[in-house]
Amino acid sequence: DEILSQEISEPKVDNLVRSGDPLSGKAKGTILSLVRNIDLEDIISSVRQLEEEYNKNFGYPYTFLNDEEFTDEFKDAIKRILPKDRLVEFGTIDPGKWNIPDSIDKDKYHEKSAEMAKEGIHGAEAVSYHNMCRFYSKEYYHHPLLSKYKYVWRLEPKVSFYCKIEYDVFQFMSMNDKIYGYVLNVYESPKTIKTLWTSTMDFVKEHPNYLNVNGAFGWLKDNSQNPQNYEDTQGYSTCHFWTNFEIVDLDFLRSEPYEQYMQYLEEKGGFYYERWGDAPVRSLALALFADKSRIHWFRDIGYYHIPYTNCPTCPKDSDRCNGDCVPGRFSIWSTLNDQNCQAIWIKHSMTDEQLDMY
Ligand code: GDP
Ligand code: MN
Repeated sequence: DEILSQEISEPKVDNLVRSGDPLSGKAKGTILSLVRNIDLEDIISSVRQLEEEYNKNFGYPYTFLNDEEFTDEFKDAIKRILPKDRLVEFGTIDPGKWNIPDSIDKDKYHEKSAEMAKEGIHGAEAVSYHNMCRFYSKEYYHHPLLSKYKYVWRLEPKVSFYCKIEYDVFQFMSMNDKIYGYVLNVYESPKTIKTLWTSTMDFVKEHPNYLNVNGAFGWLKDNSQNPQNYEDTQGYSTCHFWTNFEIVDLDFLRSEPYEQYMQYLEEKGGFYYERWGDAPVRSLALALFADKSRIHWFRDIGYYHIPYTNCPTCPKDSDRCNGDCVPGRFSIWSTLNDQNCQAIWIKHSMTDEQLDMY
């Protein structure tokens, strides 16, 4: 917990790429947003802030995806707020990659999702929410518009960025051998993933060779802070990277272990019979198949998505973060502080080398 109150401006490495450097803006990265036409105003708000705090200096392209055609109004409005020479692409998702697959028993899905809705599970009854979780888990990185990219920075509508980011984040990933970057670590509602852990363990038994010896196993299994979750899932604490912000090396998602795992989960049907979120799915894959030293907490990035915040403690004379960012604050509702499991990640998964970056 000590580290949470430590001052930070940016990672302490000596290879940060600044604006103006020949490598600046040159990584194969894009800012990706899956949105509907009705999300226009909310995504404009997110884009404006990301541009202001970061991307106006680096010029990374944007990719917008939608399960329906984007309207001209949407496309024009986005282009209007970005520099003329900026690459902005708009893609439609093949219905076969988005909709509920034929392999799912529709009656069973309706019965199960109605039950989950009664239990108050977020998104349970909207088939589009299940589609979205499945798409972000196992499909988006196959979209033709993303084939030219190695890194994706995921951006959602209605989020906030509170602090200037004065180095090229994609080049940071590349030059420091990172495959995943996140800002928040939280618990999932265990009712959404009742059989995800047991299914995952069955998969691992079939493919023990996919396990990474330096995986983050302790993080997955630590039940000290939230023992009930561990009971409900039969072994998983539900602590996960909050994927509404994520910076991903797509090569990891396109790798054999990840793809085979996705195929296995698809066959289990849990994206529909339960409400498996892309966040726990991605987190399990990373913890099992990746070297934990390749996962980076962007502690310096001030970020908010309702209801949680990552707000760094800045040096006293710094004007890097604006006044909307309250250092150390996690939730606007203080009762939800027990949903923060960042400390569990730090305890199990941070190498000395990583801790030195803070
Ligand atoms: P939450 O943060 O878990 O409440 O989920 P959101 O409603 O924010 O959805 C996650 C992301 O998927 C956001 O970027 C949404 O704009 C997007 N999204 C969710 N449902 C749909 C949908 O039906 N169609 C499209 N095109 N995007 C969606
Ligand atoms: Mn969201």
